[in-house]
Amino acid sequence: MNRVYLSPPEMGPEERSMLLAAFDSNWIAPLGPDVDAFEAEFAQRVGVAHAVALSSGTAALHLALLLVGVGPGDEVLVPSFTFVATANAVVYRGATPVFVDCSLDTWNMDPDLVAEDLDRRASVGRLPAAVVTVDLYGQSCDYDRLAAACDRHRVPLVEDAAEALGATYRGRSAGSFGRMGVFSFNGNKIITTSGGGMLVTESAEEAERARYLATQAREPAPHYEHVTIGYNYRLSNLLAALGRAQLAGLDSRMTRRKRINGRYREALGDLPGVDFLPIAPYGEPNYWLTCVTVDPDLAGTDRETIRLALEEQDIESRPTWKPLHLQPVFADNQVLGGAVCARIFELGLCLPTGSALPDDDFDRVVTTIRRLARG
Ligand SMILES: *Cc1c(COP(=O)(O)O)cnc(C)c1O
Repeated sequence: MNRVYLSPPEMGPEERSMLLAAFDSNWIAPLGPDVDAFEAEFAQRVGVAHAVALSSGTAALHLALLLVGVGPGDEVLVPSFTFVATANAVVYRGATPVFVDCSLDTWNMDPDLVAEDLDRRASVGRLPAAVVTVDLYGQSCDYDRLAAACDRHRVPLVEDAAEALGATYRGRSAGSFGRMGVFSFNGNKIITTSGGGMLVTESAEEAERARYLATQAREPAPHYEHVTIGYNYRLSNLLAALGRAQLAGLDSRMTRRKRINGRYREALGDLPGVDFLPIAPYGEPNYWLTCVTVDPDLAGTDRETIRLALEEQDIESRPTWKPLHLQPVFADNQVLGGAVCARIFELGLCLPTGSALPDDDFDRVVTTIRRLARG
């Protein structure tokens, strides 16, 4: 039997033929017609004016923070419950992440904590240089409330939508709520180019600046002329070709992941102490990963016992993100609240949710969990 992965890439004949067409065209270098087309198609899909294809989501976050003005000595509000890349990008800018707990009803950054902290900081003249939101596990934050709090204090919002391509909030696409939005095409995301990312913005000027910084800040001159420090952050044309094919299949992937999520809810929803990441009424997630919490006092088992039992059958599952305020590397950073995400981390498990997950693999996951839990 083959190993069952959490969220493996799904490549089809379209990906193969577009990759080979790019290869045969000899546009192998970063930049090329597929990069331009991927950017245009992506911007259209997300409903923003401009998209800049980059080598990773982390690179996109780094440039987004730079472009909104985050620099050395600044503080930036970041959710604690996220992948480390969100906070690392803040540190790359010489700034300090201040962590914010999540809400139990969405697992996303708590809008009340953000609003209270911004009010408090405004009153002492210490506003953060930016707020970074994360649309966790493919579900949008509550942007009416978060954007209002940021707007009130004129603090730029950067949206880390790395996990949320295709999700919507009140009908509008995830990634379009900040001054800059960021996406990832890493191997286990809902679409992948093996590695890659995208920065989106309404501003033509900021998109151009991002492209310039991502290509070593090369000045328009026949020789290599530089007046500022740049980065080597552009996406390869070959990978952009893959990305175009993947983007064309996004809706189908979301539909299948949603179906898997629904089937998990049907198959496990009756188990006492087993709960799912709640879906907020304000939007439609992309159902990237299906996550459960397992309360040992009620379930008769715990998340680690389940994880190990799945692993024994060569099935990959993974604890939910370990909160960043509990990571040794951020031990000295400030945190607002923190108990909610710490509790979810204690109980949380992400289940195999690949868009091509075969029925019998799905059944093995369910059978294993039901065997351990009190039915
Ligand atoms: C995957 C991810 C990133 C980083 O993207 P890469 O393309 O792997 O650099 C950033 N933030 C979040 C929330 C992610 O899940």
